[in-house]
Amino acid sequence: MSEDRTRFTCPFCGAEFEVPKTFVYATCPYCGTTFRVDKPEAQVEHYLFSVNFDKNAAYKLMKDFALLQVGVAEDFEGSTEFVSAYQYLVPLYIFEVNVKALCRGEKVEADEEKVEIDVHGGEEAAYVITPATHALPIGIPQGYSFPARSRRFFKPSVLKDGVYLQPSLNPEHVFSTVKEPYLRKAVSEAQTACGSGYEVADNSKYIGLAHYPFWLIRYRYRGREYTAIIDASDGTALYLEYPISARGRAAGLAMGLAATLFAGVVGGATTILLMKSFTPGLIGGAIASLPALAVAVQRFAKSKGVYRFKPSEEAVFAPVR
Ligand SMILES: [Zn+2]
Repeated sequence: MSEDRTRFTCPFCGAEFEVPKTFVYATCPYCGTTFRVDKPEAQVEHYLFSVNFDKNAAYKLMKDFALLQVGVAEDFEGSTEFVSAYQYLVPLYIFEVNVKALCRGEKVEADEEKVEIDVHGGEEAAYVITPATHALPIGIPQGYSFPARSRRFFKPSVLKDGVYLQPSLNPEHVFSTVKEPYLRKAVSEAQTACGSGYEVADNSKYIGLAHYPFWLIRYRYRGREYTAIIDASDGTALYLEYPISARGRAAGLAMGLAATLFAGVVGGATTILLMKSFTPGLIGGAIASLPALAVAVQRFAKSKGVYRFKPSEEAVFAPVR
């Protein structure tokens, strides 16, 4: 046993195994029981989100999605070949936030039958799923909402299917950060309703740890490699690189040239009006628009388009996922 590893006896099945000392959690590779490294006696609920899109389905979904991109290469479908697909199991913490700021003298009705539960003050409830590590080898956009459905208990057999990423953040710290905005909102509502005479009741719960699958797909188009990231549970395309058509590239270049020319002419004309001399203005205008031209030329050379999923836009166009 090396010095940076700790030996554990699984509290459930009795198997012995080692984990690095830096781990927050240890998962028994034999029975799948997960526990806190610093409190081995306390078992932790560990969930797994289902892979609803296997490697082939994710690759097909990626191709269909690429075909929807404006300016994608005309022969994309026929000239694209699969290179590889890796499944990443991303660690998440699941919390149930339930905070109340009650006006003093009030009591929360325990009886659900009574409809007259009048909580003056503020009440906030939410189900929050958030990454359990900052060290992710694949980019997941800030504020990405992990669909809560199709969750089941973790089983160690999935460890061989993908790249299993360890949770590294302290769950209590994450929990307080997660709760903070809800608490603030409840308190501010209570302050409006009853001034300073309120009491805070925090019934939030840490549900447990979960692992969520993503595909990192690589494919080849005309000798060059492109990458995509697909949510293996609900099929969302998070990131996609795709080849741009020759026409699209030519159009981009032409636009760049036109912008340069236009800037040159406007610059020239302005100078004529002011100084009755054409050339310095033309040069000045052309120089000013050089960055735009450089971008166009670079794009022409790169011929790679990039799509990135943005949760804020998703909320506008597809509120239900
Ligand atoms: Zn075990």
